[in-house]
Amino acid sequence: MARIVDLTASPLDLPLKEPFIIATGRKDFANNVLIRCVLEDGTTGFGEVAPSAYTTGDTRDTAIAVVEALKTSVVGQDIRSWRSILAATRKALRHQFAAHSGVEIAVLDAFGKHTGVALADMWGGVAKSVETDYTLSLGTPDDTGEAAAKAAREGFRKIKVKVGMGVTTDTQRVIAVREAAPRCEIAVDANQAFTPKEAVELARRIEKAGIELTLLEQPVRRDDFAGMRYVREHCRVPVGADETVMTPEDAIRVVREGAADVINIKIAKAGLVGALDIASIARAANLGLMIGCMMESKIGLAASVHLACGLGCFSHCDLDSIYLLKPFECEGGFTLDGPRFSVEGHGPGTGIKYEDTATK
Ligand SMILES: [Mg+2]
Repeated sequence: MARIVDLTASPLDLPLKEPFIIATGRKDFANNVLIRCVLEDGTTGFGEVAPSAYTTGDTRDTAIAVVEALKTSVVGQDIRSWRSILAATRKALRHQFAAHSGVEIAVLDAFGKHTGVALADMWGGVAKSVETDYTLSLGTPDDTGEAAAKAAREGFRKIKVKVGMGVTTDTQRVIAVREAAPRCEIAVDANQAFTPKEAVELARRIEKAGIELTLLEQPVRRDDFAGMRYVREHCRVPVGADETVMTPEDAIRVVREGAADVINIKIAKAGLVGALDIASIARAANLGLMIGCMMESKIGLAASVHLACGLGCFSHCDLDSIYLLKPFECEGGFTLDGPRFSVEGHGPGTGIKYEDTATK
């Protein structure tokens, strides 16, 4: 028996290196939430929420309120029953899944630390490391090209370009990236910015320029399943569903309606338990898998890195928030070498030792 004795949520403000601009807005700060799950033996599990009103409908205030509300059903429970604890808390919510995902990370980190198992090993221990891409935000073709050149110099081999500035401008921007980083793989993410026909036109123009994209992510509105399918059927680039898939049920609908080739899993959308379910659904349906992140610091990102390594099934890794945030003092979790994250020697749990660092 290892009882949970406390569950807390507190603000975690993280300045970005540069403003991050996508089709739906601009961000200068990540106003995140740190979650602690404390066991009776003193073990503390850490979780993090990077709220996004746009993606998951959470703000920092709502995330903190949700964690407070869930506290009574978590405190007093045996951590070894983590799946039933999290099933009950998840069932208690209609929305606010990002807040719940932070609780899941904290509970599972506490479980891993209590039992001495790294989460990457718990999920299967398939790989010890994963390589991430680097995301370029919206900007002029010149700025986008310069950012691509910098990413390539820093060792990134995969670049994801945020698009949504219009078919002509976005085509010029992707061409600028190809010229600035000739050896990098290129994916694009429209964050729902296009109509199906515009998305197909963009894909065709990029193809005509001799550039092969690895992925066209969320070209159209999240709820436009027929539009997603139209894009798939009218261009050769694999289509990825990100905002479209928040839950395992959404993943099933994508499979049934043939709406995507690849599903982008984010712990902030589906939680860790939901992420495992979505990965199973996608694999059973022969869909590709991507793992993404929100603006998490090392604390939350460590859970995604452990999941990606443990399952070893993600052909696209987009875990680059750590490069966009200003350096942040926190030990453990993973080792970073250029674009490669390694969990070798990191654990138990996610291996995050935030409290130790914070209280020194
Ligand atoms: Mg996306």
